[in-house]
Amino acid sequence: MGHPWRSKGEKRTVVWEHEPDESLTVYLRDMQDAIRYSLQVAYRTSVRDPERIPSPITLRRDVRDWFNSRYDYARHHVNPVCRTAVAMLKSYKKNHHGELRIPEVKHLAMRVDSELFKIVGKNLRITLRPNQYVWLPINTSNKHYGEYSRGRASELLITDRKVCLTFVVNGDDGEKKLGERLVASDLNFRTVDFTKATMGGGQPALVEVETQPLREVVRIQNDFSRRRRALQKHVRNPQKRAKKLRETRGRQRNRIKDALQKLSAEQVKQNPDASFVFENLKGIRKNREVKSKKLRTYLNRWPYRLYQSMVEYKSENRTLYVSPRGTSTECPVCGGKLEHPTWALSRCKTCGADYNRDRLASFAILCRGLRLCAALRI
Ligand SMILES: [Zn+2]
Repeated sequence: MGHPWRSKGEKRTVVWEHEPDESLTVYLRDMQDAIRYSLQVAYRTSVRDPERIPSPITLRRDVRDWFNSRYDYARHHVNPVCRTAVAMLKSYKKNHHGELRIPEVKHLAMRVDSELFKIVGKNLRITLRPNQYVWLPINTSNKHYGEYSRGRASELLITDRKVCLTFVVNGDDGEKKLGERLVASDLNFRTVDFTKATMGGGQPALVEVETQPLREVVRIQNDFSRRRRALQKHVRNPQKRAKKLRETRGRQRNRIKDALQKLSAEQVKQNPDASFVFENLKGIRKNREVKSKKLRTYLNRWPYRLYQSMVEYKSENRTLYVSPRGTSTECPVCGGKLEHPTWALSRCKTCGADYNRDRLASFAILCRGLRLCAALRI
């Protein structure tokens, strides 16, 4: 199922067999060792704090020096090593009913970040060390290669037998450029909070914080829940009631869609030079801890997603999505835990910074958006 606003980017992978040369084999073995080492470090951290497998970024802090002193590979290679170790530990825990042990690293396999490989003609150029490359011929005879390769090469997986090269196809992301400003939006039931920043000269500056009430949407929601209650009460025939309720839901959806169309059009019109930043709500259903309260108590998530995709579709600039994890519980600057000395205030236990609690989430989304821009090196 897809509504017209759904983002069109989809992943397609081309796989072919190969025999790695010596330098690539040595690299794969080294990365296997590095993953083993990172697993041990991550495991030790998790055992000290049994609720928490470290994030890849936290793990990288503990592994980086070891990695750089032991290997002379380009420094970026430590990122997929940490991501792989964390993912392995998490899936072990999930598959063993919460029990944690260090999983075996059986295969020679490594993910290579997109910064470290490039398609040059019919070959893949992989940066092992600064200015030292490994070249792999691409299986361009794959019947889909011509079509897929018009997309953006996003991931590369190399094993001792296979190469898997993934493209993002049909995404219009590639064509849209990043705006001159960022507008981070946090959607709540009653309001949307916007935090805006300019990025002139590479130095981000906070411009404006704004809260807009979602009166129309709230009114529609209340209106329709009243109507539903009345139907429940007064229509006795169960089939007829079910039909009426279905119709009501459909009408409610259409009204909310209209309201969101207006809101998104307005926002895009007011910010023609900006890139919008949203929380990535994909997979939020699986991840119950993320903002569960906000989303469960009030609305299901479709209006959020709908609003995001409307903005993405209408905006001439690229739209960014950031992780929603901890946007209301972690310090946006240092990642420390927040406490609340008064209701309206959030204070970071680590660095002591104070935030307006209501606007914290949109500020956190903005910070993540800025970091994402830095990571994308745009
Ligand atoms: Zn802090």
